Amino acid sequence: MEPATSFDPEVLALPFYDDSHRDLARAVGVWCDDNAPLWRGIREEDPDKAGLTLVRRLGEAGWLSFLDPAAGQAHPGDHRALCLTREALAYAEDLADFAFSIQALSATPVIRFGSDAQKEAYLPRMASGELVGAFAVSEEQAGSDVAAVELRAERDEDGGYVLDGRKAWIANGTIADVFVVVARTGGAPGALGLTTFLVPRSTPGLEVLPLEPLAPRSFAHLSFTGCRVPADAVLGRPGRGFVVAMDLLERFRMTVGAAALGFARRAADTALARARTRRVAGGLLADQQLTKAVLADMEVSLDAAALLVARAAWEADRGNRRFAHHSNIAKLHATEEAQRVVDSAVQLLGASGLVRDSVTERLYRQVRSLRVYEGTSEVLRLSIAGALDTRRADRAAADLTA
Ligand SMILES: Cc1cc2nc3c(=O)[nH]c(=O)nc-3n(C[C@H](O)[C@H](O)[C@H](O)COP(=O)(O)OP(=O)(O)OC[C@H]3O[C@@H](n4cnc5c(N)ncnc54)[C@H](O)[C@@H]3O)c2cc1C
Repeated sequence: MEPATSFDPEVLALPFYDDSHRDLARAVGVWCDDNAPLWRGIREEDPDKAGLTLVRRLGEAGWLSFLDPAAGQAHPGDHRALCLTREALAYAEDLADFAFSIQALSATPVIRFGSDAQKEAYLPRMASGELVGAFAVSEEQAGSDVAAVELRAERDEDGGYVLDGRKAWIANGTIADVFVVVARTGGAPGALGLTTFLVPRSTPGLEVLPLEPLAPRSFAHLSFTGCRVPADAVLGRPGRGFVVAMDLLERFRMTVGAAALGFARRAADTALARARTRRVAGGLLADQQLTKAVLADMEVSLDAAALLVARAAWEADRGNRRFAHHSNIAKLHATEEAQRVVDSAVQLLGASGLVRDSVTERLYRQVRSLRVYEGTSEVLRLSIAGALDTRRADRAAADLTA
């Protein structure tokens, strides 16, 4: 039997992808299918235990091996592979996608900006799933506005840094062994005065304050009080923390779009299955014209999201400097549409779609945060509008006076 994955074979067949991606899509789909008992079991567990189990299982199965490029494993930095993996995992189980994505999110700055010693210390164990990572940039007063980060890192007499302040809304916060932390160093204002650090969980002065989000998962605020790290904890160059954060977010936004696509396809498949069996008005729900319109709108949303994610990932992989614009578009569209598709699926299932822990009820809770983290929809719209190509508008200006 074909794996029950999210992928649309007609999209996978497009020249955006090559055979290595098609092989990967098939392999991750089979793995997700084979692990159906794991997904069921994981939902019964406490979110911290579930998160740890999933990072370890992903590591053992080799799905995180690309996080250690020195080991020569497959597809380091391949955005299409990253997106396809997230799409399949999100389709199968939200917590599996969460475990995969946060591990990749926290290892990627080390891959891209770390010293040889930092890479050696962290990447092999992150790739095996032995060491769990988290990425901490947000603060209660600095969410959308990353340049407003206030957590201070002051130099001490031994050349190290002492961190004081807080971080907010950190995924994997309660289970991470190491945090990638963006802090304010020096007196430069806004984006200029930020530096990124690698802070092990065991560092004295670091306290984790657990939170419970809408969809259960490891999530926490962090408090830093006189938290000292050595000079070699700096990741990348001092004063370049904003660049590290933006480089990461630009690359990962399209992958959030891919996860949204996985959720949306699962919802659409569930809704279609129900509509084809549910009898209403003397026929099947699927045969009613109003239902057909909903199913058609879902299909168009899914197609557009899949194509936008594929384009963004392909642009990033071929090194187009405007890939970040496409990444923003893919995330905005895919997450907004996923919300609509999931809501429509709940509507088509009626009361049965709202029963706690049913597929659609879970998706309804799981999809919501995607429009908030790694760039809210509003902030993405501002960025997209700010990066518009105005050349055609320059030509069209003549029409205004004609
Ligand atoms: C599930 C989840 C996981 C997360 N994981 C992490 C993590 O691992 N690491 C991390 O660092 N952070 C994480 N975050 C935090 C996330 O990045 C922030 O929530 C996000 O950046 C938005 O910031 P905020 O919540 O402070 O909202 P705000 O920035 O206060 O925004 C509130 C509202 O105002 C709107 N808004 C903001 N600015 C403008 C503007 N200029 N014009 C118009 N509207 C505007 C926003 O769109 C939004 O609707 C996570 C959040 C969630 C929900």
